[in-house]
Amino acid sequence: MSLNNIRGHPMMPALPHYRKEHHIVAVTHNLGFPRIGARRELKRALESYWKGATDEASLREAGRRIRAEHWRLQMSSGVDLIPVGDFAYYDHMLNMTALLGAIPPRFGLGDTLDLDGYFALARGTDAQTAMEMTKWFDTNYHYLVPELRRDTVFRLDQRWLFDEVAEAQGLGFHAKVVLVGPLTYLYLGKEKEAGFDRLELLPRLLPVYRELLAALKSRGVAWVQLDEPALALDLPPAWLPALDTAYAELAPDSPRLLLATYFGSVADHADRLKALPVAGLHIDAVRAPEQVDVFVPDFPADKVLSIGSIDGRNIWRTDLARVLPVLEAAKAALGERLWLAPSCSLLHVPIDLELETELDREVRPWLAFAQQKLEELAVLDRGLRLGRESIRTELEEAALAARDRALSPLVRRPEVRAAVSRVREADLQRCSPFTQRVETQRARLGLPSWPTTTIGSFPQTPDIRAVRAAYRRGDLDESGYRQRIQAAIRLAIEKQEAIGLDVLVHGEAERNDMVEYFGEALDGFVFTGNGWVQSYGSRCVKPPIVLGDVARTRPITTEWIGYAQSLTRKPVKAMLTGPVTMLQWSFVRDDQPRAETALQIALALREEVADLERAGVAAIQIDEPAFREGLPLRRAEWESYLAWAVRAFRLCSAGVADATQIHTHMCYSEFNDILPSIAEMDADVITIETSRSDMALLDAFQVFDYPNDIGPGVYDIHSPRVPPVADMVALLRKAGQVIPPERLWVNPDCGLKTRGWAETEQALRNMVQAAAELRAG
Ligand code: GLN
Ligand code: ZN
Repeated sequence: MSLNNIRGHPMMPALPHYRKEHHIVAVTHNLGFPRIGARRELKRALESYWKGATDEASLREAGRRIRAEHWRLQMSSGVDLIPVGDFAYYDHMLNMTALLGAIPPRFGLGDTLDLDGYFALARGTDAQTAMEMTKWFDTNYHYLVPELRRDTVFRLDQRWLFDEVAEAQGLGFHAKVVLVGPLTYLYLGKEKEAGFDRLELLPRLLPVYRELLAALKSRGVAWVQLDEPALALDLPPAWLPALDTAYAELAPDSPRLLLATYFGSVADHADRLKALPVAGLHIDAVRAPEQVDVFVPDFPADKVLSIGSIDGRNIWRTDLARVLPVLEAAKAALGERLWLAPSCSLLHVPIDLELETELDREVRPWLAFAQQKLEELAVLDRGLRLGRESIRTELEEAALAARDRALSPLVRRPEVRAAVSRVREADLQRCSPFTQRVETQRARLGLPSWPTTTIGSFPQTPDIRAVRAAYRRGDLDESGYRQRIQAAIRLAIEKQEAIGLDVLVHGEAERNDMVEYFGEALDGFVFTGNGWVQSYGSRCVKPPIVLGDVARTRPITTEWIGYAQSLTRKPVKAMLTGPVTMLQWSFVRDDQPRAETALQIALALREEVADLERAGVAAIQIDEPAFREGLPLRRAEWESYLAWAVRAFRLCSAGVADATQIHTHMCYSEFNDILPSIAEMDADVITIETSRSDMALLDAFQVFDYPNDIGPGVYDIHSPRVPPVADMVALLRKAGQVIPPERLWVNPDCGLKTRGWAETEQALRNMVQAAAELRAG
């Protein structure tokens, strides 16, 4: 039996239905729906508009169609209150910035923003770089960071929301307007001048929110959801009383307010939240199930409590029978004041499992995408209203899926568990300390001082992409594919030799994506055909699913690295993707701690490392670009994360002889606070991003004495600019003041796959020249 049956169930209303219209209106609601479209319709519409192939009217028409379709889908799943305002042509935080009129003056766009102005903020112009983008909490979604100054003016620009509200009302949908709340909006913003605190802007921001809420009320909007996920962070103390002030000011002349929290527990603020003058509160009972017991008892009689018990962040089907008793108990205490919802917006999951026609038939019933999650919600609602018996079939199906999943040989591989349990502390230790290893390695690799290298990938030309695509489609056979990839490797090696780099790479031509490429060679991973999730703007990713115990099925990189090494006398560094990054960019199983899954991946990679070493590879890089983003939202949880993340890295890397050099790479320069953990990873060499920040990272090295080799990037690969030799020399001299020069490497900030060959060659030639000048003293 599959999930299809839920949709086809006779008790599921297929059309919009307003159960308790003007009264306590809703029992089930959704916090937000993925805006990109099940077939990435929004992506297509945006990109064709940006190319100039279509006009604004057709882009807006596409937007209208997508919204209407999504509202209809949500209604037909049986959700009572559907979100309006979660749609955005680029990003919902940018929509708030537009709605609040907080347009950064540097763009010279005046007071009101049109659609092209909106895209200018998001994507930059010839004269101005785009607004900064950063990760939305611990998700892989990126938002545009509000630029705040002491004199920032807020001015309501209704066009950025009210048309959509009217649209939903016109279609007869029962809309709940979704906005980012004032505290979270400010908290996620960034001060663009020194000496002022963005919280000072609150008194100027609140009147605009107030005006906005009043206007919504006058248009007949009954509920407004104000998202305040910042409450799940470690907020500085002054922000909490500000919450009281803010909501006291907003409440009087507004529709009913539902304050939504998610991504963590807000139990610390329970008393404060219960006392707020709002009509409802949403809590995340997936990330923080323990808070249900904090909120349900003596929850104020004038408020609804929305319990988010369907995981909005992951793709697993809910075991309804496990969730139902919690909700039944809550219902007994709260009655009509209990609302049901996913834990957070469904922005972070793909839309529809029905599109996954290629997925393993055994695996499919274990999963639920946005659409299926809403159906689960409707089933739970029915169970609460009409009793368990009314949803017996659904409970049984879900329980069966959970049992199949738990027992499946795809999930549990005793040999993997046995291997992980045999891991000893000694397996996590290199033979000798770094100071001894480094001598052996330098001699073996024949390295000069200021050695030069790159981060792994070389330009991925349209030609290389076409080769991979043709091979995937079956239009190119195995041997034809091999020849073409070998040709790309040969080209990369020849160019690196001509440039004069010291440690070469093969260029990663065979890789489409650094996680998918390894996942495909590992048991325990599956891939969707259409499981797209928005990353930013029109960019989407299709995260792999880690569903079971992980084991390597075959050697992954040895053939290509061996081929590359056969072409040159210079050492070729092999490239692997590290365990934390594999997890961070996938949907990860929820039936065991992430730490456990990380160790399994690490053990699989350790085999790959051993194979490479046996094949004579002298340098192996294990990339961990996602190491920092894996940090939990709350500081109190950092220590345990860092402990297992470091263990996982050591498990994959520490099995080699002293003479094998382990590299790692991380793509950011802000890790001052985790530098000791990075040192504990004990990689022989780490390469990091620093050129854009003018070596700001070096401050951290003044405080903490990082013991091993380090390559602070001197070439910003995000820009087509070719850095002159003198700039790179200056950056490295600056680095040499805090890090002993004998431990410094010379390399770009990150991989070069997005660059063209011409600029890459010129920049690397300059880099090699910079190293030569430094050697000359
Ligand atoms: N080795 C990878 C590359 O060069 C690293 C990518 C990354 O840091 N995200 O492309
Ligand atoms: Zn990088």
